[in-house]
Amino acid sequence: MDQHLTLALTKGRILQETLPLLSALGISPLDDIAQSRKLVFETTNPSVRLMVLRGSDVPTYVQFGTADIGVSGKDVIMEHGGDGYYEPLDLGIARCRLMTAGVKGQSVRGKQTVRVATKYINVARRYYAEQGRQATFVKLYGAMELAPITGLADEIVDIVDTGNTLRANGLEERELIATISSRIIVNRAAMRLKHDAIQRFLDAISNRLVVHDA
Ligand code: AMP
Repeated sequence: MDQHLTLALTKGRILQETLPLLSALGISPLDDIAQSRKLVFETTNPSVRLMVLRGSDVPTYVQFGTADIGVSGKDVIMEHGGDGYYEPLDLGIARCRLMTAGVKGQSVRGKQTVRVATKYINVARRYYAEQGRQATFVKLYGAMELAPITGLADEIVDIVDTGNTLRANGLEERELIATISSRIIVNRAAMRLKHDAIQRFLDAISNRLVVHDA
C-alpha cells in the first residue's frame, strides 16, 4: 500500500502555529507558502505533501480521504460534525473560546425567541436547544460583531481570544460554549490502510508536543 501522506492544513493563524511543529518533524514545504499561489506543496520529506485550505474545508477533504490527515480547529470540527475521521490528538495550539455574545448591558433573557447570527449554525442550533432557549439563526460568513450592533441579531456565536474585538464593538461575552484548540484528524480508511505511516507521524508529533509543553 502507498504510504505517502497528504496533510490538509488551515490557512492563517493555525498554519503559522502548525508549520514549526511540522518542521521539527522534518516536514517543511519546498516553496514559501506565504508567497505562493499553489494549493499543494511538496515537502522536505518526499513521502509527505501539504494542502493549504480554507478552515471549513479541511474536515471535508479528510472525510472523503483526499487528505489522509488534517489540522483543524475544534470549532470547525464541531460544526462539520465529525463524520469519516478520527480525532486522535489535541495539538493545544490556536487556543480560543467559542462564546455567545451580545450588546453590552442589553439582556435577552426576557425574550421568547432570540435571533442568533453566526457562521457556526449547527453548533449554535445544538447549543440553544440544549439550553432550552428558543432561537432562530442567521448564517453569516464574517464580521459577526456587526449583527447585534445593527439589530440584525440579538446575539452572536463566535470565537473569542482576547475579547478585544467584542469590546471594541460594544459587545460583551456571555456564555462559554466550548474551549477550542487545533486537533489532528485522520481519515478512517487511511488509518487502516496507511496505519504504519500514520502511526509514525502521530507518535512523532505527540513526542514533540511533550517536549514543546515542558
Ligand atoms: P480577539 O482576540 O477576541 O479580539 O479575537 C479576534 C478575532 O480573531 C476573533 O473574532 C476571531 O475571528 C479571530 N480568532 C481568535 N482566535 C482565533 C483562533 N484560535 N483561530 C482562528 N481565529 C481566531
